[in-house]
Amino acid sequence: MAIMEYYLDPYIVLNEVFGYADFRGDQSNIISHIVSGGDAFVLMPTGGGKSLCYQIPAIIRSGVGIVISPLIALMHDQVRALHQLGVRAAFLNSTLSFEDAMYVEKQMLNNELDLIYIAPERLLNERTLRLLDKCSPALFAIDEAHCVSQWGHDFREEYLKLSTLHERYPTIPRIALTATADSTTRKEIVERLNLSNARTFIAGFDRPNIQYHIVCKKNSLQQLLKFLETEHPDDSGIVYCLSRKKTEKVAQFLVEHGMNALPYHAGMDAQERKCNQEKFLREESVIIVATIAFGMGIDKPNVRFVVHLDLPKSIEAYYQETGRSGRDGLPANAFMTYGLSDVVMLKQFIEQSDADEQHKFIKRTKLNALLGLCETTACRRKVMLSYFGEDLPDRCGNCDTCLKPVEDWDGTLAAKKALFCVYQTEQRFGAVYLADVLTGSTNKRIGQFGHDNLKAFGGGKELRAEEWLSVFRQIVAMGLLSVDIEYGSLKLTAASRNVMKGKQEVRLRKDPKPEKQKRQKKQKKKITGSVQGGLLFEKLREIRLGLAKEADVPAFVIFHDSSLGEMAEICPITTEEFAGITGVGKRKLEKYGKIFIKAIRQFCRENKTSGIKAVHA
Ligand code: ADP
Ligand code: ZN
Repeated sequence: MAIMEYYLDPYIVLNEVFGYADFRGDQSNIISHIVSGGDAFVLMPTGGGKSLCYQIPAIIRSGVGIVISPLIALMHDQVRALHQLGVRAAFLNSTLSFEDAMYVEKQMLNNELDLIYIAPERLLNERTLRLLDKCSPALFAIDEAHCVSQWGHDFREEYLKLSTLHERYPTIPRIALTATADSTTRKEIVERLNLSNARTFIAGFDRPNIQYHIVCKKNSLQQLLKFLETEHPDDSGIVYCLSRKKTEKVAQFLVEHGMNALPYHAGMDAQERKCNQEKFLREESVIIVATIAFGMGIDKPNVRFVVHLDLPKSIEAYYQETGRSGRDGLPANAFMTYGLSDVVMLKQFIEQSDADEQHKFIKRTKLNALLGLCETTACRRKVMLSYFGEDLPDRCGNCDTCLKPVEDWDGTLAAKKALFCVYQTEQRFGAVYLADVLTGSTNKRIGQFGHDNLKAFGGGKELRAEEWLSVFRQIVAMGLLSVDIEYGSLKLTAASRNVMKGKQEVRLRKDPKPEKQKRQKKQKKKITGSVQGGLLFEKLREIRLGLAKEADVPAFVIFHDSSLGEMAEICPITTEEFAGITGVGKRKLEKYGKIFIKAIRQFCRENKTSGIKAVHA
């Protein structure tokens, strides 16, 4: 029978069940608010610790806590991770057999569950609602609440109907959670979920452990390879691409270079897709090359990098996608390659889509904000946080523009020349051709079109063709040129005029030159500082892998890397010492304490250190 029934104090649950010493940020306030029956709207970045905000109240309040999530594929692992902690949890979704679903329903009726994860469509069918009537829910947690936003990238029709929960169960507390922070989406969530009386908790959105790099695209595959070889040998991470085909091509390329890379996209065979996701979650050093179909709710804590080989759709999307790295709080990298072709393609996508004008307008605005981020000479983090309405007082010191400041230059004349070149060639060409004209290239087509007679021909020899491409990219990003929907040629806009007439100044960014000499391969970052600690850490990892295989769960469900790191540093050799490790709660102490303590003791004997004192002496 359950160990859960007698908990009343959130701190005790935090310590004994989850094995954590303290609450983070607003967790404690949110939990008290829900425990006492209030509604809450929680905005917290990925990795901020949203789950505890509903898990602990569900354990404390009587009845079962209902967690609504669109992420059916993850429910199984979420529930198993809770079982590891001794929490009575289950899920109800379309992957369960009829018998299994009946069993879960019976558990609900008998008050044998603390938490149940349900897909929204399942929750809202009459049968489930009748079941809920009979078992008095402890709370409703609406996870990934931004799915109600029709302008967002993860819209789910069924989420709109969740507002009815409040009408049917007015006294049951509701908590809506999301990591998507922009103010339009916030408003939509409050309106559509009927949360105007809920208390809002907004956490700081900064993720200081993630280092941001946005670089100009040269040869993105080689750039990717170099990044992985120098920064992340043997790490797990995600590489995002725009098209399904490209994910396969890139994965193949990485495999040919000796890496363990797997593709993931919505067009794959469902079984294979699931298998690749599973491998990513469970094994070490797996790189998943995916479209944005991958990742919502992926809570693998030790994703060490997220790469974008193509532009994401908006700053929100970028922040959310990169936010999947470094959930464990250890250093992580976000790396993006970006070029004019991306801008052209995304602009064409928007204009060609069937969306109505209002929808297109929003998409354009979002894309422009993203381009601003790519082209900025200011701190990347500052730009992103200010987009979410948060003010970072100083430069962050942990993004490319902070680490290696980028200069800007007076590009007024260059922009003017570029625009006149577009004008003289009758707005029918793309940037590569235009750069050739400006530099007076021997490109045969120029002669064929008679463009070697233009004033623009050879009129921009002060810059190299590559530098002109950078000018074009930036003035397109600024809206001084638009992109032809059909052919991708560059066209003048209403904004071009002022620059052509010399009435407007243009500041441009000096794109940093790629580093020439090969950087030394980085030593794999050790979680623990000392050599001995490193050896013990590897040993503990082996033990963890064995236990994970036995229990058929991902390794981090047994213990996170950070817990193993703490063990390797502190060398706990008594039960008491072991219980003090972050992430060791009662159940895990019972289940795994002996095994790990034995291994640590043996290690200390063989290496002639005797636990805490020797290591710290
Ligand atoms: P989110 O859902 O907000 O992305 P999670 O709830 O998955 O984040 O939490 C992120 C990580 O932080 C998890 O590994 C979780 O166990 C850990 N965590 C959350 N709260 C605490 C805490 N108070 N102390 C230590 N670790 C915590
Ligand atoms: Zn910065």
